[in-house]
Amino acid sequence: MSDDPPDPEKVGDEGRPPSNSAYHALARRFRPQTFAEVVGQAQVVQTISGFLRQGRVPHAFLFSGSRGVGKTTSARILARAVNCENLQDIEPCGACPSCLDSLEGRSVDIFELDAASNNSVEDVRALREQASFAPLKGKKRVFILDEVHMFSKAAFNALLKILEEPPDHVVFILATTELHKVPDTVRSRCSVLPFRRIGESAIQERLAQICAREGKEIAPEVLAEIAASCMGGLRDAETALERILPLAEELDLEGFRRLEGRLGFQRALGLIGDCLEGDVGAALRYAQEASEIGAEERECLGEILSVCRFLFCIVADGEETLLIEAEGEWRDRLVSVANKTSLAYLDGMMQCLILARDRMRRFDDRRVLLELTLTRLARLGETRSLQELLEQAPAPSRAPTVRPAEPTPFPPTSSSRPDSRGPVDPRTAAPAQKPSPPSAGKAKEEPAPQAPPTPTDPWLQALEWVGKKKPLLRTLLVRGKPIWEKQAALRVELRPTGRLDRQLLQREDSARLLQAALREVMKRDVEVRFVLLDEANPPPPSTDSPAPKKPPSDEGLPELGREIKKTFGANLVDRRLEEPGA
Ligand SMILES: [Zn+2]
Repeated sequence: MSDDPPDPEKVGDEGRPPSNSAYHALARRFRPQTFAEVVGQAQVVQTISGFLRQGRVPHAFLFSGSRGVGKTTSARILARAVNCENLQDIEPCGACPSCLDSLEGRSVDIFELDAASNNSVEDVRALREQASFAPLKGKKRVFILDEVHMFSKAAFNALLKILEEPPDHVVFILATTELHKVPDTVRSRCSVLPFRRIGESAIQERLAQICAREGKEIAPEVLAEIAASCMGGLRDAETALERILPLAEELDLEGFRRLEGRLGFQRALGLIGDCLEGDVGAALRYAQEASEIGAEERECLGEILSVCRFLFCIVADGEETLLIEAEGEWRDRLVSVANKTSLAYLDGMMQCLILARDRMRRFDDRRVLLELTLTRLARLGETRSLQELLEQAPAPSRAPTVRPAEPTPFPPTSSSRPDSRGPVDPRTAAPAQKPSPPSAGKAKEEPAPQAPPTPTDPWLQALEWVGKKKPLLRTLLVRGKPIWEKQAALRVELRPTGRLDRQLLQREDSARLLQAALREVMKRDVEVRFVLLDEANPPPPSTDSPAPKKPPSDEGLPELGREIKKTFGANLVDRRLEEPGA
């Protein structure tokens, strides 16, 4: 893959420049012609300036960095600078015969080789021969080798021979997107200059400059969208701008998205915000919009995934993280959404997206799969664990005085009811979770063996506290299912197995004791309600739960969190995911 689009300066296979065209003219007009115009590479430009000012340009450079960040452009400016007859400090004058030859693609001393298609040892031997001649017109012969990591091993060895004893009149500028593929022996003989990805604000500024130069006006939100979506690659941004430039005046953000056939990062972030709110309707509207503008569903998921990664980096590494290039307003928006979520949640989201993207390859009705996936993302919040809910509760004013309890293994119930579960299994803490009905496929849905519950769990601590006062009550509660209805209201679903147990649980002071225990542990008042269940009295639907209700069609569907855990192991997940089209 070449670092740049076709360009008149690039020498074709027959050694002649390819024919010019309006496209090339436009591309060249956009391209920086001086170091001052190079965007976002201050460090690199500073290093090159040092060499030029001292008149001691190294024989070999290695420009590394991702695509479209200015490597080839900088290489061409440097090539002109070393040959310019009238250098302006560090900038080529752009007017002397050498500069003009280069700008018009007919320089006899500046060579460009695309290593992606000229990577054999013969190509490098031809290069060596060229390098042995003195410059015809200028001061140096400059060889720009693009995508140099594509060289074969033999080609690298041949190149190394020249780099070991370069003629005085030669400058090599190697460029690569994959530095690790360039042998150390070659790297060590080059002055290696790392090119950074370019920040959005710099890209947006550059796009605005181009618009001004072209006498076009484009809505700032369109430029922001382009800048945010190009992942630090200026050339991709310029190419996108070039496509819309003829329509500039009439184009709003909506029109731009339609034209590009993609909803973009900003919209993806909006969707993630909706999902965090559990807004299934809004999530489905995203799918509708995607369909209306003809966006490819897999690409939509890819965009959402990219934005999830931004959020993940912010949550994991802090607001100032350098792991992402986001800047300005865009970063502010990312941070504000990141503050509402957690690593665990994003992890779940990303795994869901990765899985769906993979499935889409083999699935015809992609719209349905997109809708299903977005619905899942919007409902991920329902599976938040008890631990997570407690973490979100206001911090206690001082540390709990109760010594953390030892991990308490869940004792088996006297009757082996299929829906009896451990008290602290985070999955059972989901507000709307119902016990799975026994069925032939039930064995697969049985929860996987759990790690011992965390001893810092306030529920467990409270049970320990209760156990010191009323050991019998503790043994009953330990089999119960704690469900946080609000941050300060706990419902405990219990299945007493005998009359005495039932009576004990119905006594007012039992609930009050647990309440006191929770107050002791959590340093705040918690409303406690015991709900006694038996075969004739199934768990009530949690109408007062803040989470949206499950649609009936999802009855028996394994809880999403568990599903994701199983994603890379069990067949069940596959079957479930493809169900809508089956
Ligand atoms: Zn010049």
